[in-house]
Amino acid sequence: MELATEGPGGGKISVLCDFDGTITLIDTAEFLLDRYADGDWRRVEDLLEDGRITIDQCMSTQFAMISLSRQNMLTELDKVVVPRPGFSRLLDACSAGSARFRVTSAGLDFYIRHFLAANGWGAVEVVAPEVMDNGSGVSFRFPPIREPQARNFKEDQVLRERASGRRVAYIGDGVSDLWAALSADHAFAVRASRLDRLLSREGKEHRTFTDLGEVAEALFPSPAGLEVHGP
Ligand SMILES: [Mg+2]
Repeated sequence: MELATEGPGGGKISVLCDFDGTITLIDTAEFLLDRYADGDWRRVEDLLEDGRITIDQCMSTQFAMISLSRQNMLTELDKVVVPRPGFSRLLDACSAGSARFRVTSAGLDFYIRHFLAANGWGAVEVVAPEVMDNGSGVSFRFPPIREPQARNFKEDQVLRERASGRRVAYIGDGVSDLWAALSADHAFAVRASRLDRLLSREGKEHRTFTDLGEVAEALFPSPAGLEVHGP
């Protein structure tokens, strides 16, 4: 299946992309929680998947378990975080295809901006909760939701783009990406990720990938017609 990326107006596609575990190979929040959380943060994650708490409540509860300064978080993460292969290619393809590209992440905004800038991608647009130091740790101020039917801010971002007449490709790997991916025109999930499994369970057509170049190729097929792996 080839995905046409331009409507009658040309270039009317928005590519919204999760950060943790999608643009990066590891989940930065999970890495920090695994090492520094004082409490059962995975149980909180299960409550989110069961729909018993919101993503806002999930992140705030989890990071309340961590006492680590912002600078120490940066230092720890810089040792281990690397970009997923193909990210540069995806950005170039979006740019060449006049597509809007935006990171939509429930993660640590200051780390995301730090990571992007350090890799030469500082101009990339980011929508993420604002992390605020509160003395002993951090708390989160989530992006406002404007679309009444949006179930979290990621889905709100998708619905806003659609409301402005654009088609949306959503790329992710986790529970917090589910509603956004369900509302998107084209859903992409990291192969064998939680999102991949959840989308299959929901019966939502989606493509899977391990290299973001596969997403670039699906959205903006090259003349050579490289093979794209999918479900
Ligand atoms: Mg993720």
